[in-house]
Amino acid sequence: MFEKILIANRGEIALRIHRACHEMGIQTVAVHSTADADAMHVRLADESVCIGEPAPRASYLNAAAILSAAELTGATAIHPGYGFLSENANFAEMVEAHGFTFIGPTPEHIRVMGDKLAAKALMRDLGIPVVPGSEEAIEDIEVAMRTAEDIGYPVLVKAAHGGGGRGMRIATSPQEIRSAISIARAEAESHFKNGAVYLEKYLAKPRHIEIQILADTHGNVVHFGERDCSLQRRHQKLLEEAPSPALNADQRAEIGNLVSAGVANLGYRGVGTLEFLFEDGVFYFMEMNTRLQVEHPVTEMISGVDLVREQIRIASGAPLGYYQNDIHLQGHSIECRITAENAKTFTPSPGYIADYHAPGGLGVRIDSAIYAGYTVPPYYDSMIAKLIVHGRTRNEALMRLRRALDECVIDGIDTTIPLFQSLITDRDFVNGDYDIHWLERFVGLED
Ligand code: ADP
Repeated sequence: MFEKILIANRGEIALRIHRACHEMGIQTVAVHSTADADAMHVRLADESVCIGEPAPRASYLNAAAILSAAELTGATAIHPGYGFLSENANFAEMVEAHGFTFIGPTPEHIRVMGDKLAAKALMRDLGIPVVPGSEEAIEDIEVAMRTAEDIGYPVLVKAAHGGGGRGMRIATSPQEIRSAISIARAEAESHFKNGAVYLEKYLAKPRHIEIQILADTHGNVVHFGERDCSLQRRHQKLLEEAPSPALNADQRAEIGNLVSAGVANLGYRGVGTLEFLFEDGVFYFMEMNTRLQVEHPVTEMISGVDLVREQIRIASGAPLGYYQNDIHLQGHSIECRITAENAKTFTPSPGYIADYHAPGGLGVRIDSAIYAGYTVPPYYDSMIAKLIVHGRTRNEALMRLRRALDECVIDGIDTTIPLFQSLITDRDFVNGDYDIHWLERFVGLED
């Protein structure tokens, strides 16, 4: 087992990884930008190294500085968390070329899944149903028009190397397709330095259902059922729950087993998430994320398995040590992503946190790196806390979430807590009756 792990991230996820390491008796090295010198992930780590200026490019994306920090401190493995370098195949390659262990899949798997068209082709070959659409990047507008006719309007133009909900445009008719392609292309080019786009059937009222898997280096694969991440704004998740109110046990077992078998065929290692759209009882694969997800805690709450600990064990070469039949999902869990934003306008609200009180009690978990007296810097993602609850039933989880939100005090900045407080009084949400477009109507945003 590793003695010292470098955590190449910041905020709540850096702390989350630190916690798993310390419970395993592993020392931690934090890296940080000059803006994060007082951050909790730095304060709690055993050692820390400043790796650059606030801009992510200069620090958290600075592979050379991160590798130097690992060298300097004698860390032998690097955990990338999510975001930043976590899905960068070149980084994973560099880590291994320098003799460190990358806590994640092989660079080859990261690379192929980072190309959504290649990932869809691979999954189709493995017998996993995919969203109907073009099989290659769009080169020629005439070909794109024919593909769109074949799959039927409306269609979605998507960035082949996209992420974070960017580089997506709907075309409802042939007249709109040309401009949708050029807008999506320009957005993809500016965000991902790769303008490749493709077409997909635009599903009108699907749910976003994703399956969590775990694979060791000895050929064992298990799944932990699904997370329902349909509550989204601008294609970004705000609240996730497990299990999904829309699936029954047979559907769960069927898609879970299909995914496990496919992943076993791939020879994949580590944690992974296969994202699907689910409409009228049918699953359509969208993409695979080759890293820990923000919403992984809801799966941990219903399974009792520490996914970060499992990532570290797998990276060290240990076998899973259990089978699918040993995994028992219990109760219901909900996560709210609390951001430093105005709950009505979503205007960013970084700044000084004058007072902070975290909710507690049975079945309540807070994953956060904020504290009273902390200043939320303006340079990074606006998420400041994940509030996760667990209950024996969905109703118990909802009641617990309501009282936990009421207990939470974050003074000095705007947060999205009021949005969640109104959400949990809504009848559709309470009934579990929502699709991926529901939340945008709820917050009055339709684009
Ligand atoms: P990203 O990698 O940018 O997050 P995804 O492919 O995961 O992109 O899609 C993000 C979200 O966009 C999905 O959760 C869903 O809400 C919406 N979406 C993606 N593809 C489709 C589609 N074919 N039809 C309808 N909505 C879609």
